[in-house]
Amino acid sequence: MGKTASGVKCSVPGCGNQAVRSVSQAEVQAAGLSTRETRRAYLCRDHYKELKKRRRENKRIERWRYKA
Ligand SMILES: [Zn+2]
Repeated sequence: MGKTASGVKCSVPGCGNQAVRSVSQAEVQAAGLSTRETRRAYLCRDHYKELKKRRRENKRIERWRYKA
């Protein structure tokens, strides 16, 4: 069994894929994504990958900002 109930859809607007992960809203915002949910967000495999990727990029950018 996965981490989400079956039939849950991805929370990213315009994406109707099956969700495979639930993440906190803080994680979503840290990645610069927006979702319809205000508490936990559900992400499909693609958007979960994108969230992880974007979070890495944002961290790098923040580090540059602190240095400047
Ligand atoms: Zn999605």
